[in-house]
Amino acid sequence: MTPGAYDAVVVGGGPGGFGAATWLARYRARVLLVDGGEQRNRWVDRSHGYLGDDPVTPRDLLGRAGRQLAAYPEVEQRAAQVRHCARRPDAMFAVTLDTDAEVVAARLVLATGVEDAFPEVAGFFEHYGAGVFHCPTCDGYETQGRDVVALGWSAEVTGFALSLLGWAASVTVVTDGRRFEGDDGQRAELARAGVAVLEDDATELLGTRGDLRALRLRRMGELPCQVAFFSIAHRPRTALARQLRCVLTPEGYIEVDAEAATSVPGVYAAGDVTPGLHLVQVAAAKGAIAGVACARSLRGEGADPDGWQDRLPGYSSAMTEPNRPAMVPDAGRLDELETEIDEIRGRVDDPLGQGDAHFIDGGQPADDRTDDLVAPPDPEA
Ligand SMILES: Cc1cc2nc3c(=O)[nH]c(=O)nc-3n(C[C@H](O)[C@H](O)[C@H](O)COP(=O)(O)OP(=O)(O)OC[C@H]3O[C@@H](n4cnc5c(N)ncnc54)[C@H](O)[C@@H]3O)c2cc1C
Repeated sequence: MTPGAYDAVVVGGGPGGFGAATWLARYRARVLLVDGGEQRNRWVDRSHGYLGDDPVTPRDLLGRAGRQLAAYPEVEQRAAQVRHCARRPDAMFAVTLDTDAEVVAARLVLATGVEDAFPEVAGFFEHYGAGVFHCPTCDGYETQGRDVVALGWSAEVTGFALSLLGWAASVTVVTDGRRFEGDDGQRAELARAGVAVLEDDATELLGTRGDLRALRLRRMGELPCQVAFFSIAHRPRTALARQLRCVLTPEGYIEVDAEAATSVPGVYAAGDVTPGLHLVQVAAAKGAIAGVACARSLRGEGADPDGWQDRLPGYSSAMTEPNRPAMVPDAGRLDELETEIDEIRGRVDDPLGQGDAHFIDGGQPADDRTDDLVAPPDPEA
């Protein structure tokens, strides 16, 4: 290993990156966590649904995570932006920061999150994270008994608005002056559910933080609401993944296997930048999976994704297990399992191989059948 090199650089200091760095540290890997400080929920007053900490202010949660991580001497944390990552000829990674510092690491974990597109409405950031949200799963619960505006114009707004009706007293779609892109069927579906679609400009959110009163529309005036959601777009932050040539999904997320390994040997990914639910707890869990898998790979343990063999630095031994898809066994493996199950059935039905079923009592074959296949020996005997 290159002198002074890190075992792993974790890019991103949200729940995904902290999860990965924690578990790398617990495997005694030397870790550098680099974070640009733009966690997706940095505007939010209260984040919900994290076990044992519900609700919690994201700043408090991440502050605690950062302090707890700092207790591990294996970990260094830097506030910086990673500009560039590249594989070196010795198969290590060169990581360039915006401070122009260059560090070297045997592994990378990308936990870079996603970026949201925001509507251009006056007062937006006054209310964002208190009365304005974008994810019904995260913040739908708090809309009970409230009038909600769903700001957006794509066909997806249909499902978005209907899902909000599962909690809210009423939902109105405002297209911000654009034409609603849904078809007639979607318009009819919204109408049947009592959701009006207003094709008017949203100009200003009225009220104070935590007390949203209305959305002002250019032509139609004030639309009373206590909560607003927007559904415009979000973009996974994949600049580094693309530099490294990681395969992305058709939706633009970093493709990972069950152990958070990307298509590029030595590069793992976790959190919102990978496919799946966008929740703090999920991001932290994905980080834990990436951290453990990455740390085990440094020890030459764990899964061995296709194409990674002999292409990773820092191994003291060959990797041990093939990357057998854990959740979806291939057809050959299913046949093997079937044969194993048949053999086990045979042993249970006919433990002594004498043709008839025999049952065991007190460690001995029993003459009479009982309901139990095997009875434990009598401790008094
Ligand atoms: C309004 C809102 C409300 C939400 N409410 C909830 C809720 O109630 N409950 C819930 O469970 N979830 C909620 N979420 C979702 C939650 O915020 C995300 O799922 C979670 O933050 C994802 O964690 P992450 O680590 O993947 O990404 P992030 O937390 O976004 O962290 C990514 C980090 O990577 C850094 N980074 C990116 N690129 C680089 C680079 N090149 N160099 C250095 N650093 C870089 C960024 O600066 C950022 O700090 C909410 C999100 C929003 C926007």
